[in-house]
Formats: sequence, structure tokens, C-alpha cells
Amino acid sequence: MAGTSANAASEYGLIEAGGTKFVLGIADASRAIRARHQIPTTTPDETLGTAVAWFRDQSLNPAAIGIASFGPLDLDPASPTWGHIPRTPKPHWTGADLVTPFAKAFACPVAIDTDVNGAALSEYRWGAGVDDKSLLYLTIGTGIGGGFVNGKHAAGHLLHGLSHPEMGHIRIARHPQDHNYPGFCPFHGDCLEGLVAGPAIKVRWNASLSDLPADHPAHGIIAWYIGQAICTFQAMLEPARIVLGGGVMHAPGLIEMVRDSAAEWGAGYFVGDPRAIIVPPGLGDNAGLLGALALVLEDE
Ligand code: ZN
Repeated sequence: MAGTSANAASEYGLIEAGGTKFVLGIADASRAIRARHQIPTTTPDETLGTAVAWFRDQSLNPAAIGIASFGPLDLDPASPTWGHIPRTPKPHWTGADLVTPFAKAFACPVAIDTDVNGAALSEYRWGAGVDDKSLLYLTIGTGIGGGFVNGKHAAGHLLHGLSHPEMGHIRIARHPQDHNYPGFCPFHGDCLEGLVAGPAIKVRWNASLSDLPADHPAHGIIAWYIGQAICTFQAMLEPARIVLGGGVMHAPGLIEMVRDSAAEWGAGYFVGDPRAIIVPPGLGDNAGLLGALALVLEDE
């Protein structure tokens, strides 16, 4: 949080900051969303300015503002660039300060974390992990990211090191039938994201997984990689619940294949049984905004 202490208002301004669009919302702690709006992501000045103007049009007097953003983000509270985007391939956004425009306009605290961490926390609080003491959320889409929540206090607590985790960038063994593709990660080539994210699938097989026939070998190869990654994350974290979101996971039958693959990789060693603990997200269309709300409430 940054800014002044919370005022008496019980409403929160919520921002789901994505690479192509920003979703704005206003909600109270009961999760009732009274207004929602979508704007395109253009330049920081224009997009953040439009967002501030929309909140003002809604007469928002927020107790706090929550931002669940695409990353990477500087999340070190001691850093002078806390809440900035340190580097991104997205034009205009390297160095963008996501917090100050809102903190200044509304003189309220601002909570910020990645969209992935927001989703992890909201799934833990209200979604697929409500009965669990720990939760790993993985999004497998245009990129791959992961967030981990443990339940040492009731609302859950997100794992941070110097910044948010970068679980998409773990090294991974190559599938025997997938040796030629170098991977698309500009930093690591064939890290998990470089092999399994949507763009890496499209380049190899000229279609998304959902558009390939059910008997196409790509399904098995992608499930093999995701299962292997989950085995690594189970070894590190032993999550009670694993939630798999993101566009790639929409491919019919993929989650079942991933469960089987993770079970094979783990060989029965871990406490969590992949066939029981791996589930799709429990929150629907407002998941991004609820992620922003969970981030605000975590800080209170
Ligand atoms: Zn990478």
C-alpha cells in the first residue's frame, strides 16, 4: 500500500491491467460489483488517464484501489520504482508507473500485484481453493505465470521473494518428439513458457491446441510438459490445491491429460494427488476484478 490512510468509504476501485485492455470496476468487500468498464491499452498516459476519468465519472470515493496487472512489476516496497513496470516488450510501457496516477487522483492507498497473484489470491479466498490451506495458481496462455498462496493467516498470503515468482521460466526436459523447436522465450529459449505458451503452440502446429483434432500428438506433448512442471512445483511447495487457468487450458480434455501426466511424473511421492487436487478456476467472468479486490483486502 502507498498513500494516505484509508477513509471511511467502503468502496474499492479495481483495475485489471492487461496488455490489450484494462478492465475497471467498483466493488465493496462483499464482492458486489456496481460498475464495470473496459478500455483499450494504448499508452500509459492515455490509458491511466482514461481510467482515472472513468472512476471520477462514477463518483468513486474509494477506501483503496487495487491493481492486478500484467508483469513484470517492481513489487519491492522499499524501491523508489515500486509499482512500476521495469521492462516489457510492450511498446511505451517500460518504466510505466501504475500507482501514482491513482494515488494522486484519489488520495487513497493503492495495492498492486500481478494479475496472476491476484487470481491466485481470489481463487484461494472465494474460488477453487476455499477449503484449502494452500493454493498454486498457474495461468497457461499467451505467457505462463504462477502464484502461490499459503494460509497461515485466514485471508491467505502470497509468496514473494524480491518480486513475484516467475514460474513460467523454469527449465524443463524436452519431450522426445519435440526436439527441433528452439522455444520462443527471448531470455531462455526453451523454458516452460518458451515451449508451452500459446504462441509456442501456434508456431509449432499452426493452430491453437483447441483447434487441433483430439488425436493430434500436440495434446500429449503439451500435457507432458505441464505435468512435468507441476511435479517440480509440488516438490517445491506441496500445494493443497492446484488451479490451472489461461487460454491454453481451454483445450477440451487437456486438464485430464495434465492430471495423468503430473501423477506419472510424481510417481506417488508427494502428499497431494494430482488427480485429485488439479482443478480449473472456480471464478467466472469477474475473476480479474476479484483478483484486484483480493489484493486490496490482503493489505487491510
Ligand atoms: Zn523464459
